[in-house]
Amino acid sequence: MQRTKLAIIGSGPAGYTAAVYAARANLEPWLYEGFYAGPAGGQLMTTTEVENYPGFPKGITGPELMLLFREQAQRFGTKLFTEDVASVDFSKRPFDIKGSSTSVLADAIIIATGATAKRLEIPGTRDGEFWQKGVTACAICDGAAPIFRNQPLYVIGGGDTAVEEAIFLTRFGSKIYIIHRRDTLRASKIMAERAMKHPKIEILWNSVLEKVEGDTIVRKIHLRDVVKNTVSQREAAGVFFAIGHTPNIGFLNHQLQLDQKGYLFVRPGTTYTSCEGVFAAGDVQDSIYRQAVTAAGSGCMAALDAERWLAEHGGY
Ligand code: FAD
Repeated sequence: MQRTKLAIIGSGPAGYTAAVYAARANLEPWLYEGFYAGPAGGQLMTTTEVENYPGFPKGITGPELMLLFREQAQRFGTKLFTEDVASVDFSKRPFDIKGSSTSVLADAIIIATGATAKRLEIPGTRDGEFWQKGVTACAICDGAAPIFRNQPLYVIGGGDTAVEEAIFLTRFGSKIYIIHRRDTLRASKIMAERAMKHPKIEILWNSVLEKVEGDTIVRKIHLRDVVKNTVSQREAAGVFFAIGHTPNIGFLNHQLQLDQKGYLFVRPGTTYTSCEGVFAAGDVQDSIYRQAVTAAGSGCMAALDAERWLAEHGGY
């Protein structure tokens, strides 16, 4: 079987940045980009304008940005495999990685498989409908877009994330509505109070989103009151899912320790996971920031941690 000093799993900003650093350190990394697990290039492949990635003062589309990341990783000799990793055996050294069509033994591994924003299966919100045309799952990423300015915006959820996103959106929208299916928020008391006291936030209790409509962008939502069992139509420009994220860790088969929120555990201030020689970067280990630039930053950290670990432990 083939062997590599370093395998990187995942091709978002974290994985490609780790590859740039590792390749420039002559580690000749293998990078599994993913295929069915998600598009090569990661979450930004599903978005249009990225306006907060430094270095692009006029903005850049997500796919364009990720192609540049990919090109830079390749330039220094990263070997790219556009396939999913099905499993990794962490009990043996070197680690045994099985992709969908290739296998490799790796002295060290960087896991950068990201996290997937949870969405609900609601008519009008899907890809090809109004997803990314007013429907999104990231207020920080998309909230400042012109289509949301001074318009009524709707946040779906009832936890801390939903409240945080609603408060953030008060800078842009005319009024922010939190749609919540129950009559109390799941958010912490302090966050719930903040939302309820905010003059620009209104909570629509016992309500569920039933449908999103529009022309080229979102214009209207249908809202069901689950107690009265009535449906009303409301003017809308934006719908923000804030119901959490799922880190993409199924293929790890419970071999690595998780943090309290179910993300990969890393030693604070490092990218070291619970297994020696295995590092994690990007959204898969970050329940807080989840931005392209923070993912890229931690990809750099993971490559430096892996390089130093390999030097010390004789991997090369
Ligand atoms: P990801 O980008 O999630 O990439 C993970 C990669 O791992 C994917 O390529 C996937 O295919 C691969 N993978 C998963 N499982 C496997 C497996 N088993 N084997 C092989 N590969 C696998 N952030 C910003 O900073 N600015 C923005 O404007 C912005 N807009 C966004 C818009 C949208 C719609 C979304 C969803 C997110 C947005 N974000 C934005 C957030 C940003 O995209 C993420 O924070 C960032 O992409 C995380 O990078 P990552 O490298 O950790 O993982």
